[in-house]
Amino acid sequence: CVESGMVLEEVCQLVESKDWYFPLDLGARGSCRIGGNVSTNAGGNRVLRYGTTRDLVMGIEVVLPDGTVLNMLRRLIKNNTGLDLKHLFIGTEGRYGIITKVMLRLFPKPERRYSALLAMNNFAQITSLLKFARATMPQLSSFEVMWKNYITVAAEVTGSAVPFDGAYQYYVLVEIEGVDSPRLEEDFQAFLENALEQEHADDAIIPQNIAQSQALWILRDASAESMRARAPYLAFDIGIPLKDMSNFIDEVEEAIAKDYPDIECQLFGHLGDGNLHLTTARMREEDFIPVEELVYQITQRYKGSITAEHGIGVIKKPFLHYSRSEEELKLMEQIRQLLNPDNALNNGRVID
Ligand SMILES: Cc1cc2nc3c(=O)[nH]c(=O)nc-3n(C[C@H](O)[C@H](O)[C@H](O)COP(=O)(O)OP(=O)(O)OC[C@H]3O[C@@H](n4cnc5c(N)ncnc54)[C@H](O)[C@@H]3O)c2cc1C
Repeated sequence: CVESGMVLEEVCQLVESKDWYFPLDLGARGSCRIGGNVSTNAGGNRVLRYGTTRDLVMGIEVVLPDGTVLNMLRRLIKNNTGLDLKHLFIGTEGRYGIITKVMLRLFPKPERRYSALLAMNNFAQITSLLKFARATMPQLSSFEVMWKNYITVAAEVTGSAVPFDGAYQYYVLVEIEGVDSPRLEEDFQAFLENALEQEHADDAIIPQNIAQSQALWILRDASAESMRARAPYLAFDIGIPLKDMSNFIDEVEEAIAKDYPDIECQLFGHLGDGNLHLTTARMREEDFIPVEELVYQITQRYKGSITAEHGIGVIKKPFLHYSRSEEELKLMEQIRQLLNPDNALNNGRVID
């Protein structure tokens, strides 16, 4: 159990010092706090294997605006005793109460990680690679996709070489983690060989040591710097069923190119979770709202989410109706009126 103000990286280090593992991992690990992670139901790089923060929290303590303390710090995975109240506070961005303590769900500490960067030119190869990886490697923990238009900027801002000299359209960073045994390495090698042989990918970079592996992750973690290098920009965090992802991207890119030819798109994301990050960069600020409307209207048509993991906050609040029905919004507001009647907590965020 930790205090909600602990920085995520410190939480992970503390847990690992006790020979356990808390798998939440995201670019903001050195600054974000576990209370913030829980209140935004953060996702990150290992959702594919361990789930979102919601799945990594066994219990929480919450203080309501009237001073009521809800102690829900139970160590139970199964507990069918009616409404699981902690979920009212996970992912609702502090609108219903303040999270003060978090009971973490821990896992055995992985002894070894292997990563590789695979490259391909057809989007269909990404989905076939994901299916193949899931079927053959239960230790798969990350499946991060970077488009050429993202990885070239990420390489520029981090002073790295562009992998494969940018010869491919898509780059997939896969990682497995597990016990340190020759079997783990052999399984990973076999996966990579078969993936290339069966044309789920056209090329691969296989790091030979931890430093080379970290160099690949530096590219994936450079999203914030890559956006800032092409400011002014909008950062979209879209949830789309994977089967629709390719059509969705084509439609969005075409619509943007037609009406806003000067905008540069950068694409990357946690594709294993159907989560696409789109940055529309080098914008004119007067185009922000029309471009948001454009992207969210297409998202709505695909029954997607206007924010898969970052949350609504203030900026996305006017667009929430693209992902939630009138009835859902009304119920969320009624719960807010019940728990936070004077709007003392985070007024102006998420819902009225
Ligand atoms: C470089 C970078 C990379 C990122 N990558 C990812 C990613 O891969 N996946 C992902 O999901 N997110 C990602 N994020 C966003 C990240 O999830 C959030 O920034 C983080 O989880 C929020 O934690 P925080 O401490 O920064 O919260 P803050 O930004 O301080 O707060 C976020 C919201 O939660 C509320 N809040 C904070 N603490 C509490 C509390 N104790 N009780 C109730 N409400 C509270 C705040 O009022 C606010 O509304 C990234 C952010 C950055 C900067």
